[in-house]
Amino acid sequence: MTHTEKLETILRDVIAPSAEQTDREGIFPRAAIEALGRAGLLGLTSSSEVGGMGLGMREAANVVEKIASECPSTAMVVTMHYCGTAVIEKFGPESLRREIAAGHHLTTLAWSEKGSRSHFWAPVGTAKADGSEYVLDGEKTMVTSAGEADSCVWSSRPATAEGASTLWFVEMGKLAIPGKFDGMGLRGNASAPLSCASMRLQESAMLGADGGGFDIMMGVVLPLFATLVASCSVGLMDASVSRACQHAGGNRLEHLGSSLADLPAIRAHIGRAKIRADAARALRDDVISALENAREDAMLRVLEVKANAAEAALEVTDIAMRVCGGAAFRRNVGVERFFRDARAASIMAPTSDILFDFIGKVACGLPLFG
Ligand SMILES: Cc1cc2nc3c(=O)[nH]c(=O)nc-3n(C[C@H](O)[C@H](O)[C@H](O)COP(=O)(O)OP(=O)(O)OC[C@H]3O[C@@H](n4cnc5c(N)ncnc54)[C@H](O)[C@@H]3O)c2cc1C
Repeated sequence: MTHTEKLETILRDVIAPSAEQTDREGIFPRAAIEALGRAGLLGLTSSSEVGGMGLGMREAANVVEKIASECPSTAMVVTMHYCGTAVIEKFGPESLRREIAAGHHLTTLAWSEKGSRSHFWAPVGTAKADGSEYVLDGEKTMVTSAGEADSCVWSSRPATAEGASTLWFVEMGKLAIPGKFDGMGLRGNASAPLSCASMRLQESAMLGADGGGFDIMMGVVLPLFATLVASCSVGLMDASVSRACQHAGGNRLEHLGSSLADLPAIRAHIGRAKIRADAARALRDDVISALENAREDAMLRVLEVKANAAEAALEVTDIAMRVCGGAAFRRNVGVERFFRDARAASIMAPTSDILFDFIGKVACGLPLFG
């Protein structure tokens, strides 16, 4: 079986049947993650040298998009796992890389902080050298798979070096969850705060150089994160449009002898949504080509892709709600779940507002930072 066929089976047998319950009860999609692990899909981006599939961003985006069309909560767990894996693949020990490749280890990123909020590139949590060890203190505001993943890639201020940040491999068991919250959307992704007080780590837990976090964030993680979060948005937009079309075609105005889809206003709404969804997919595919071919505009496309897809998803899911009318409001059609889930991408860091500003800076020839 190809990895795509394996994914289709898991989508049909595990993810789709439990998506509604995952959302309603806010439960972590453990069965889905275990099935993806068994199928090798959690090791999709791990190198074949350590037993992974050795595939790239294009395939990861396709996996995330397909999962998001059924369960965006699960898609976000997988997104953050692939992002954490990218750092561990480059800087982590071989034994850990093998665990991830084998689907036995789920990871995530713990970057956003109480102090610097969505400005993830500037952690205020600290790391202090103490003999051969390091002592870390920090408060993260929202971490996907908090308490559910086996580990996270943690950010702090550098211990002794210059620079904005240092990254660490931290086992989830070393961290405290100072309070869960009842999220509006992506309710199954177990996002919660994480904190540590005087947490002791060996030097081997440092991922990359002390003070090297910023370059890893921007060079290794941001292109993948932006593309995969955009893929979540693309997947849930597609699902929203197709559910809206099904509803419009399948529901009749008996006194007129026509369906909702026979109304020009309804068709125009659907047409507008379809353009937004298809354009977001086209830009997502373009950023992958730009990165694969090291195009000059690759970084600009990286900045654009998530903002574009996240904003499109706000509009498309809003249109799906409107097209499906009272049935959507009563939660009968399932588009209301996508409407709520769609809200996360625009506020996940870098938020759309920050990206608009960054893109404006690039367009005006100004530096992104400073
Ligand atoms: C479902 C979900 C899952 C998440 N998972 C993770 C995770 O796994 N790991 C992780 O590290 N984080 C995660 N986050 C956190 C996320 O990345 C953001 O840090 C968080 O959502 C930002 O919220 P805030 O209130 O702190 O934002 P704030 O920084 O307080 O922003 C508030 C508003 O101000 C705007 N704003 C802030 N700065 C600027 C600026 N310079 N220019 C223009 N506008 C600005 C923002 O766009 C926003 O609209 C997750 C968030 C969500 C919702």
